[in-house]
Amino acid sequence: MTDSLILAIDQGTSSTKVLLVDRQGQVRARGWAPLSQQAPQPGWIEHRPLDVIESARTAVDEALSGGDDLDVVAVGISNQRESLMLWDRSTGAPVSPLLSWQDRRTTSLCEELLAKGHGQKVRSLSGLPLDPMFSAVKATWLLDACDPDRVRGEELCLGTVDSWLVWHLTGDHVIEAGNASRTALVDLATGEWSPTLLEIFGVPEAVLPRIVDSSECVGVIRGWKDLDGAPVHGILGDSHAALFAHAGWRPGVAKATYGTGSSVMTLTTEDSSDSPALCRTVAWQLPGQAPALAWEANILSAGSTVSWLAEMLATSASDLAEVAASSSAGVVLVPAFNGLGAPWWDGGATALITGVSLGTTSAHLARAALDSVVLQVDDVLTALAQVDAKPQTLFVDGGMAINQELMSRQAAVSDVDVAVSMTPELSALGAAHMAGLGAGWWTLADLESLPREYTKVAPADSCVDPPDAWVQLREDWLRAVARARSVPSPASVAFPDHERPFTSGEDASR
Ligand code: ADP
Repeated sequence: MTDSLILAIDQGTSSTKVLLVDRQGQVRARGWAPLSQQAPQPGWIEHRPLDVIESARTAVDEALSGGDDLDVVAVGISNQRESLMLWDRSTGAPVSPLLSWQDRRTTSLCEELLAKGHGQKVRSLSGLPLDPMFSAVKATWLLDACDPDRVRGEELCLGTVDSWLVWHLTGDHVIEAGNASRTALVDLATGEWSPTLLEIFGVPEAVLPRIVDSSECVGVIRGWKDLDGAPVHGILGDSHAALFAHAGWRPGVAKATYGTGSSVMTLTTEDSSDSPALCRTVAWQLPGQAPALAWEANILSAGSTVSWLAEMLATSASDLAEVAASSSAGVVLVPAFNGLGAPWWDGGATALITGVSLGTTSAHLARAALDSVVLQVDDVLTALAQVDAKPQTLFVDGGMAINQELMSRQAAVSDVDVAVSMTPELSALGAAHMAGLGAGWWTLADLESLPREYTKVAPADSCVDPPDAWVQLREDWLRAVARARSVPSPASVAFPDHERPFTSGEDASR
């Protein structure tokens, strides 16, 4: 008997994960393939575009290798966001590398645009700070390099990873609404490319993809063997997909993904009060409905901090986590390797380690690296509290979430219940859910009733340190952050009570 399944591709920073999901929402098969990245100069981080396609194909083939009688009824995509590239519209050949969301080559371009006073305009139209992470300045850089006179708009395609994958799957040049909102070129009020933002960043509209709904059928797959004829029916940015898989359309659900970076996200309303510490973003767009808007806070270095220290100490991330001391003994690591993201948005901040003594060991450093993740998430939960959006329960996922001690420290430091998803590929699952919604397999009510397994951690479950140690840790952290920042920020030292993590709207737009 033919088995009807949805196939979901999650194209991430370090790998592609693929799931085959049945109508009961159960994962029936998995595929995985690595993705390498290149760092040709300090601060430059990129992928080879064809490696992305190769990684996706390998993971798809692995997932499909187990069964002959499979009917893939729809394909869903979740993807690393903000990363951007150019390709040739007639040949499909890449014209540029894929500039990673982590890439910082546009830092000085951002500074120029900020000096011209564009920070507030970008923020008010797109909901995002003017920061190298978002695609808009990458578009400026790529076009300056490949089309300085802006005369090749008809010949070139500009696109994010979802655009590039769909181009290879169906031949269409599209971008999903949530991914589009992360470019910083979309007017949140209209959901369309903003003429003002295109002007600021020097991007001709002709080079841009068509914006599509998250569950729309964007085309039928051609040239992918077993997937031929299947419709692409659901696309979400990876963070959005994780929120969707947590059934994050319900009020009050907030999620934190702990991966290479970290993202905290929860739905919001158009008229909720503003916060320069947080981004406002389209979570997803369903046909015939207003876009679902979200608060999001992006932490630039989370798992990458642990990986970096592990490499320095010639060990693995999981082994480093094993040997971490129960306390960092006053050592604080501020992982501003690419500047600081939310809630500080300080692209010029530098990474530093404070509180080191002759008694400091690698075990203390390991704890300081892990605590830096907890403390950064705590900072953004504080920012969420300021807009009345701090959750009672934080739903979590991502590779670091397997670290139980990390999760119990998060619960204790942030005084929040933490619900750890038992599904390791939650973004892929969210893409499968969206594709199933688009293909008519499920309604939102059906999706809500699908089984979801969590391990719950309460603040009281952490007996690692007395509560006043957390207070001291947060004070030390804020003091170290103030030292790491490029903008003098005495105000953040003056708020050791942790009530206000950034100093002004201007700082937050950097
Ligand atoms: P991504 O999807 O961004 O590629 P993952 O969600 O797969 O990332 O998570 C990988 C990250 O998890 C790595 O950066 C690694 O440092 C971190 N990590 C792996 N094992 C542990 C652990 N036991 N404790 C804390 N962090 C870990």
